[in-house]
Amino acid sequence: MGRYGVEPDEIDEFARLFTGFLDRMQAHRGHSANRVGLRDKLQEHLGVEPEQVPAVASSFPPYDLPNVQRAIESWFDSFDVVGLAGSNRGHHSLSEVLELAVYDRFALGAVDYQRVPIDIGEEMDCVAFGFYLGVQGADRYVALLRAPNPQYGRSSVDLEVLAVGDGAGDRFLSALPELIRKHNVFRGKVVSFEGSEFGQGVGPFRLHPRPGLSRDDVVLPAGVLERVEREVVGIAEHRETLLAAGQHLRRGVLLYGPPGTGKTHTVRYLLSRLPEFTVVLLAGTSIHFISEACALARMLQPALVVLEDCDLVAEARDFSRGMENPLLFQVLNEMDGLAQDADVAFLLTTNRADLLEPALSQRPGRVDMAVEVPLPDDEGRARLLTLYGPALDLTEEVIEEIVTLTENTTASFMKELVRRTVLLAAQAAEPPAAVHLRSAAHELLSARDALTRRLLGAAPPDTSELPEPGIAPPNIPLGGPGGAMPTAYSSSVHISYDD
Ligand code: ADP
Repeated sequence: MGRYGVEPDEIDEFARLFTGFLDRMQAHRGHSANRVGLRDKLQEHLGVEPEQVPAVASSFPPYDLPNVQRAIESWFDSFDVVGLAGSNRGHHSLSEVLELAVYDRFALGAVDYQRVPIDIGEEMDCVAFGFYLGVQGADRYVALLRAPNPQYGRSSVDLEVLAVGDGAGDRFLSALPELIRKHNVFRGKVVSFEGSEFGQGVGPFRLHPRPGLSRDDVVLPAGVLERVEREVVGIAEHRETLLAAGQHLRRGVLLYGPPGTGKTHTVRYLLSRLPEFTVVLLAGTSIHFISEACALARMLQPALVVLEDCDLVAEARDFSRGMENPLLFQVLNEMDGLAQDADVAFLLTTNRADLLEPALSQRPGRVDMAVEVPLPDDEGRARLLTLYGPALDLTEEVIEEIVTLTENTTASFMKELVRRTVLLAAQAAEPPAAVHLRSAAHELLSARDALTRRLLGAAPPDTSELPEPGIAPPNIPLGGPGGAMPTAYSSSVHISYDD
């Protein structure tokens, strides 16, 4: 036992641990001495004290982060990106960061990245907070790129630039819009605007797959699809000839008719026909972003701007009191604001043409063509049966019977009818046949399913034609009689682009 009641072995062990501790402390001190401060790095790159360089700044819409990054990178001959260590770095402006950097508050650290979807199944790692140290010719730049942070009230992509070189900063900023246009990741894509979770502004973009529909997939009375196609696709195909003849390219088509008749379906077909077009979809409340949508369409033309259910912005009450609807008129003004020679087509869909008509007739020239998408006639319903139920293998007689039974129903009703047929057959463990089709039709046309029918957009059937006795006639008011424009359809916002 030693002097203090400690074994000599224990003293040796303590000495070993203590020496280790001192070594580590030494190593740590050496490490922090090697820490490179932001300010020194910027000064080394710029060749002057960063505080002496005037800063210029610019902001971009929140969805433009990947495009701004691409534009910046294409401007520089060479560049490096550095980040910062230290907390709260994201909340300071560039000049604040520089001020604090004098006190060695910030050391260089990792760049913050954010994954941004730029196509279906494709993401880009975007700089969310990072300093580009760039060189272009003899000019030297520091550009701080910052992603939006709506949670903290910052809803734009922000860029702050220090540039050494005569007029270099302004030259850089004024070159960016064209570079953003040129390197835009959304060109030729189908995108929709979403509102921001945190406020008024535009939120994230949603990308949608482009449908692959053929002409045979759209069942409309003869001539209807051709008219729409000539206006939207034909103008695109003959763009050079029309321009040479002094004709404008901008066009607007209104598709109107009861819900479930194929207005959205027709739009999706047109998207398939125009694979090189950039498409901006606005539905319901996102129609508020009309000016952003038009700006994007102008930049990425040829483009289609789709305004789904645009009656939702035209409140019936306003019109009955003779008041103008500001949003609807904003839409029409934005349409008009687009240069005549812009290769941009507007496609508007509505279940309530009656609500839009007053505004459209007061502002002529925005919509060149209004096309009715009606309830399918007998021939249409027969075609729909075979389109959606090729496996049913129906005889002419059965088709005729069902066509008669389903008068005044919609295309989406016919589609659901086939699906129910297949389901009933599956439940009975039988191959789908006429018997299941009849049961499905009776189910869907019965009073019990009146709400379903209404949701499918179907007008009330003429119950006198129901062959089965004892089925109570549905007693739900639905739309106007005789195929006239309905007045009371519920307008639900479409989300059917991705099916
Ligand atoms: P609307 O826009 O007129 O309310 P939709 O286009 O959304 O109607 O129709 C819903 C679904 O019903 C479509 O996705 C499509 O599958 C089917 N459908 C509707 N109309 C047609 C049509 N004319 N031809 C073929 N299928 C159709």
